[in-house]
Amino acid sequence: MGNIVNSAEYDYAGRRKLIDSLCEKYGFIKKRVIGRSCGGRDITALKIGAGEEYCLIAAAFHGSERITSVVLLMFIEKLCGAIAEGGDIKGIRAARALNGKGVIFVPCVNPDGCEISLRGSVACGELAGTIGKMCRNDFAHWNANLRGVDINHNFNAGWQQLREREMAAGIYCPGPTRFGGFRPESEPETLALTELCRTVNIRHVTALHSQGEVIYWSYAGNTPARGKKMAEIMATSSGYSLDTPVGIAEGGGFKDWFINEFGRPGFTVELGQGKNPLPAENAGKILDRVSEMLMLCIMM
Ligand SMILES: [Zn+2]
Repeated sequence: MGNIVNSAEYDYAGRRKLIDSLCEKYGFIKKRVIGRSCGGRDITALKIGAGEEYCLIAAAFHGSERITSVVLLMFIEKLCGAIAEGGDIKGIRAARALNGKGVIFVPCVNPDGCEISLRGSVACGELAGTIGKMCRNDFAHWNANLRGVDINHNFNAGWQQLREREMAAGIYCPGPTRFGGFRPESEPETLALTELCRTVNIRHVTALHSQGEVIYWSYAGNTPARGKKMAEIMATSSGYSLDTPVGIAEGGGFKDWFINEFGRPGFTVELGQGKNPLPAENAGKILDRVSEMLMLCIMM
């Protein structure tokens, strides 16, 4: 029988259908809408397993990085198959990886941005003209949400300092990328994740971005020792390198906020290599490279 998720482009409707098919096939997936985007699109969380602690893996914070959503959905399908059949992924038994804990996946944090990057002006509704002007009709590289706020600059961790660096880089107002909003946590996409983390006991978070084959694991002085150890294991497994963000890439991100708020590990993983948006057909190859890393991440 064929796979439900393939190395292909999925728009919002297509992704919803995939998620419904996965939930139908694997009755143990618990689906919950944790928020709605500026454009009214669902931000969906899929929970597998249960326990006192959950690990959280989220993808597609940036529109042009929507391949991360496909990679994550492919991984979810593989994991569910392995759970259902008592099987393993890269030699790691799924049931054992999940023993006593659960995992929450958010396959697409920024559904508006992904839709704009994939489908262009038709995805923008009545904002089509404004967004077209903001990006000079280069919709494919759109990373922000529908309001032109970059979700991964909108979290409340060093947000003010990041704002100053944005302005120094000439970014003052909403646009395709790197504008962090007029205040931290102003966006519904950001709030969907922060509220989830505040209400569920989350052991660690992993944010999937593209591209560069790099793992970021630290923020300010608050990174727990366990975070560095985990990052080293993840790097060894994937062959990705470890790095520390500098300049405009530092602060405001989901992993930064999570580390800062909870003193628990948070990671940004830059999947794949090339120029965003990476071709959808690369998704399977990328997953093959990182599926052991994701299993280890769930185990740790
Ligand atoms: Zn990104």
